[in-house]
Amino acid sequence: MKNHMLDVLVVGAGPVGLFCANELNRHGLTYKIIDKKEGISEHSKALGLHIRTLDVLEDCGFIEKFLERGLKVESALLKSNGKELAEIDFKDLDTKRKYLIDLPQSETERILYDALEEKHNSVHWQVELLTVNQQIDRVMASVKNPDGSMARIEARWIIACDGSHSTLRHLMNADFHGSKYQQHWWLADLHIDWPIPENKMIINISHHGPLACFPMGNKRYRVVLTAPTNDAKDPSFEDIVKEFNLRTSDHGVLSDPIWLSAFAIHHRQLQHYRFDRIFFAGDAAHIHSPLGGQGLNTGIQDIYNLVWKIALVQKGQSHVDLLNSYNDERHPVGKDVISKTNMMTKMILIKNDILINMRNFSFKFLANISSIKNAIAYELAELKISYAKSFIVHHFGEKIKFNAGEFIPDFNLRPVHGDRECSMLEITEGTKHHLFFFIGKENVSPTKVQELAHTLGKQYEKVMVVHLIMTDNVMDSGGIVHRWIDVSHNVHNKYSINKTSVLLIRPDKYIGLTQTPLNNDELLDYFSGIFI
Ligand SMILES: Cc1cc2nc3c(=O)[nH]c(=O)nc-3n(C[C@H](O)[C@H](O)[C@H](O)COP(=O)(O)OP(=O)(O)OC[C@H]3O[C@@H](n4cnc5c(N)ncnc54)[C@H](O)[C@@H]3O)c2cc1C
Repeated sequence: MKNHMLDVLVVGAGPVGLFCANELNRHGLTYKIIDKKEGISEHSKALGLHIRTLDVLEDCGFIEKFLERGLKVESALLKSNGKELAEIDFKDLDTKRKYLIDLPQSETERILYDALEEKHNSVHWQVELLTVNQQIDRVMASVKNPDGSMARIEARWIIACDGSHSTLRHLMNADFHGSKYQQHWWLADLHIDWPIPENKMIINISHHGPLACFPMGNKRYRVVLTAPTNDAKDPSFEDIVKEFNLRTSDHGVLSDPIWLSAFAIHHRQLQHYRFDRIFFAGDAAHIHSPLGGQGLNTGIQDIYNLVWKIALVQKGQSHVDLLNSYNDERHPVGKDVISKTNMMTKMILIKNDILINMRNFSFKFLANISSIKNAIAYELAELKISYAKSFIVHHFGEKIKFNAGEFIPDFNLRPVHGDRECSMLEITEGTKHHLFFFIGKENVSPTKVQELAHTLGKQYEKVMVVHLIMTDNVMDSGGIVHRWIDVSHNVHNKYSINKTSVLLIRPDKYIGLTQTPLNNDELLDYFSGIFI
């Protein structure tokens, strides 16, 4: 391995590291990705890719492959002793996709790995990170090569995607705060022949313990259940069949076990995701109960939040303080995932009959209230993530209907030259910030707004695209500002935009800033705090 200064060294080529290397490539940074194993995982491990993760994968150019290979799952069915307690479905969500995708982790890794191979900058397998030495402007990593020789890699930054047993975490002496659940768990990857449609995941809860069945297509399922005894050894196929028949009255015939394993669950989190030039993401930063299937999803979204910030700082386009917003924004998300999956796990593990009845009654009662059912679906789909409290997210002026810190709102605009309306994800495609000036229904003289849009467009051309949204047809005078028509004032009406208003979409498609009415000084101040 040649020794020259890289922008980033990625340690670990699990799904999070593989996604990270692809993101670094998309943002134009130099990188090297290493992993001590021999190749990508063969196991199905993380299955569910939630709606927000699918949005992220769309933005990063992967969505077609995931939709092509994965299975659409439209609801989660909760049952107890053969009776349905609740069905949480995603069809009423106000989202582009109303399903999650189940795809074995091995396939997810394959898609991400193939994309790196195409870019001719793929994983260096069997290269193990042993030590690091952080200096003011770089990190030096000592690695062991496949032939046993030692080498040094120098990079400006390291992203630790080295999983739950993270070497880098140990090297930093960082506390992985949390604990282990007492209960042992089993998993089985096998076929089930039964009349239940494959677009649902089924969670059975009974006094024998939980049994969750996640479809992978063609009758293949991941079954997850608590082990009946506190024995850590792997289950046999017969053990799984016996427990399956005890815990569900849906008559299923099990066959073709592909993978049977016992596992333990921990919930732990790093106190801080950044140690100077080393950033932690994925299982290296947080682990939790697999109920809810959030592990891989949270890791991918960590990376999506981090890489654009490193890219801006590394290219000298942003102040280095921007990097602190990674922990500021992602640590609370990890904490929330841990606390909610912990609560779910405890509820599902209840053994006392009286408490089981109370729990089942509450599930049934709450799931009949459509607003609560909808809120649970939003939560499961990871649509509630907000960075509103982050120090780089601001709302200025009067309250409007765009929520700073939330994901990009979904609406369409028509370009001044063109007939086809474009969605916001299309308009904001790429790795830059996008600044939108909505002219406002009350603004009869847009000249002042146009001037400011032009000034900002010129000043921040390398990092930001500026858009002007008019309510009426206008002549496009050309230039740096992109002009759009809000057809029939749809967006202005939906979001009650009467005065000139501003919306900033960050490279990770979250809203970085909202402002109404327009205030030039405030806006210029904000940008000089973020960009150089
Ligand atoms: C049974 C099971 C079911 C799960 N189900 C789900 C689910 O449905 N949904 C979900 O979102 N999540 C699920 N998860 C969790 C999910 O698998 C993990 O969250 C995910 O694998 C984490 O990815 P990662 O890239 O952070 O870490 P890993 O996949 O652990 O990858 C870390 C990599 O770092 C490498 N590495 C470690 N140390 C070094 C070193 N010193 N030098 C070089 N390389 C190193 C390792 O070899 C490894 O390849 C499940 C997990 C399990 C075990």
